[in-house]
Amino acid sequence: MDQDEFLCARCARHTKTCCQGTEIYTTSGDVKRIAEHVGTSDFYEFRLPDDPVYADQDDDPLWKTRVFRADGSRRVLKQQANRDCTFLGTQGCSLPLEVRPLICRLYPFDYTEAGVFDDKLAKGCPVELLRPGQDLLTTLDMHKADADRWHKQLYDELRCEPTNARYAEPVDQL
Ligand code: SF4
Ligand code: SF4
Repeated sequence: MDQDEFLCARCARHTKTCCQGTEIYTTSGDVKRIAEHVGTSDFYEFRLPDDPVYADQDDDPLWKTRVFRADGSRRVLKQQANRDCTFLGTQGCSLPLEVRPLICRLYPFDYTEAGVFDDKLAKGCPVELLRPGQDLLTTLDMHKADADRWHKQLYDELRCEPTNARYAEPVDQL
C-alpha cells in the first residue's frame, strides 16, 4: 500500500466511502451553487430518509424544523444506480470544494446548531488506515477554522429554509 497516497483514495479501495450509499442533504444555497457550476438543476430530489438515523435529530431542533418537510422528506442529492453520489467520479468528487454541499465539506466534523464539536468526529472514516501517531483531521487536511466558517454558512442557509410545522411541534404530539 502506498502510504503517501491520500487517505480518501485508500479509503475508496478499502471500503465504501462517505460518497457511496450516503444521503446528502443540500440547502437551497447548495443547489444554487452547484446548478451554477454544472449548468443544470436535475441533480437533487426530495426523499424520505432510507436510514432512520437521519431523522434522529433531537439534539438539533433547528435542523429538525428546517431540513424536513411535513411528509418527512428532505432535499438530497440523487444517486447513481449503485447508490454512489451523482457527483462521484473515478477521481473522487467532481465538484470543486467550495461548490460541494456544505455537509460534504464539513465531514467528518460533527456539529449541531451550537457549533462544531472539538472532541467528536463522525465515525465513518477508516481510522484503521492511519499510521501510528497520525490523526484523522491532519491526514485529511481539514481545519477547524474552515469547519467553523462552513458551519456558520450551513446554519445561516438553514434559517432561510421554511419551517416545517410538523417537526416544530413537541415530539409526543406527532
Ligand atoms: S472523508 Fe473519510 S469516509 Fe470519506 S472518503 Fe475520506 S477517508 Fe473515506
Ligand atoms: S457531492 Fe461530492 S463530496 Fe459530496 S457525496 Fe457527492 S461526490 Fe461526495
